[in-house]
Amino acid sequence: MTLPFLLTLAPSLSGCPVPAQEGAPSPHLSHSALVSKANLRAHLRFLADDLCEGRGTGARGGAMAARYLAAQMEALGLEPGMPDGSWLQRVPLVGVETDAARSRLEISAPGKPSLSLAILDDAVAVDETLRESGSIDAEVLFVGHGISSPREKWDDFKSADVAGKVLLAFVNEPQPADEPGIFGGKALTYAGRWSYKFEEAARRGAVGALLVHTDASAGYGWSVVRNSWGRERAYLEPGPGEKRLSVAAWISERKAKEALALAGLDLGELTGRAARRDFAPVPTGLRVRATLVSKRRPLETSNVVGRLPGSTRPEEALVYTAHYDHLGVGVEEEGDAIFNGAVDNGSGCATVLEIARLFATLGKAPARSVYFLFPTAEEQGLRGSEYFVAHPPVPLPRIAADINLDGIAVDGEPAEVQPDGYERCTLKGVVEAAARSLGVALVPDPHPEQGFFYRSDHFNFAKGSVPAIRLGTGLRFVGKPATWGEERYEDYRKNRYHRPGDEFDPAWDLEGMVKMARFAFVLGATIADGAEMPAYLPGDEFARPGAR
Ligand SMILES: [Zn+2]
Repeated sequence: MTLPFLLTLAPSLSGCPVPAQEGAPSPHLSHSALVSKANLRAHLRFLADDLCEGRGTGARGGAMAARYLAAQMEALGLEPGMPDGSWLQRVPLVGVETDAARSRLEISAPGKPSLSLAILDDAVAVDETLRESGSIDAEVLFVGHGISSPREKWDDFKSADVAGKVLLAFVNEPQPADEPGIFGGKALTYAGRWSYKFEEAARRGAVGALLVHTDASAGYGWSVVRNSWGRERAYLEPGPGEKRLSVAAWISERKAKEALALAGLDLGELTGRAARRDFAPVPTGLRVRATLVSKRRPLETSNVVGRLPGSTRPEEALVYTAHYDHLGVGVEEEGDAIFNGAVDNGSGCATVLEIARLFATLGKAPARSVYFLFPTAEEQGLRGSEYFVAHPPVPLPRIAADINLDGIAVDGEPAEVQPDGYERCTLKGVVEAAARSLGVALVPDPHPEQGFFYRSDHFNFAKGSVPAIRLGTGLRFVGKPATWGEERYEDYRKNRYHRPGDEFDPAWDLEGMVKMARFAFVLGATIADGAEMPAYLPGDEFARPGAR
């Protein structure tokens, strides 16, 4: 997709007031200029401080950050967002941590010595049924990418009965040489995400799933898997009749090769098979024997929700989201075990707090109510927003849109904005108008292969058929060489993403957060005054005809 804001636009599509004359600035532009860098810096410095201990879900640092966000919104004169008059929406999560010392995971083949996997180094595994202790002894079935997609007419299962088995699968999607555009081509679709693999395996009655990690297919190294899975994870209690895996696991590429070799199978050869449309599941002859002992505890955690009541249609809403949780205290690196999460997502929280201040200082509130939602447990699988969407203070059909900020560029002034998801719904024109007002170019996700659209809280709103836009910055920065942005991104992705090194740096100029606050405010203020309810375009995977 090229730079869409050059395209002309039919205002009627969105129902949101687009400047009458092409290029006319938004009526909210001048107010957006009141963004305060000092406020942004103060919020970010606090949320990323060691004292917040990485804002762990269910941990003291997380609770402290939640109080800070609620107190800041109260000080702005906003209202508690929950119908019971609370700033906090309690999310009933259970923390589960696999006790590596008391758990066992091994793979065997007839007549061969079994292969014992060291938990954390060779594999990570969680019992998603939330039992204290559980064992399985099951055969391993290789299912390629483990995808069943009516949309792509792709079925890795070919009606094989996988009940009671452990499914060995690749993350990401098949790329048959003769179908370059399948599964969105270079872009990752939800079917490529690890969460989809576990969900699909559970839906089909498997007892376990073993995902093969490679840097290329996952898009990140083993340390990210280890840091995310080798610690306490948070889950909602299973719903009635909901199936869960007894062993949801990742295995390193090295150990996967060793295990397959036990059965005379080759990972490379299986990779080739899995890329073909006629792929059929492969009975490997291997068995997994596992006993997972879990430390489980109820987690005391909440979403933080504030509200600016609408002036004329307060029963309708616009929602801003930015998750406040991060990875807490974990595996030490160079003497540092606090995962401060300055960029992820202190930057988003600070920016949404400043957007809230812009709304709170508007002379007249917009027509629709504006909610400022700081979900918890995003790092645990988008749990907080999952719960909010299942228990919304406003019925979903009356939520006009969700604008999500997760990981804002903290250094350098962006020349581009990346509004993931805007082309899927009737808000395209409004986003283009905001871009014109701010004088920025709109660009597609420069890393569609990473599947960011499925990796943050807006995804739960999209699944609820609420138009959801994840706002990010592109790779071009004002006054910087063309490669600067990509180099910064790669440095962050390799050295600080989900690691203790994601620390606050007082030298950051925060120009990215300033621009993002202005853009998100101008966009949101327009949507909050919109006459019609935005919706997904017909045929989109998130469209629900008649739902809005
Ligand atoms: Zn994040």
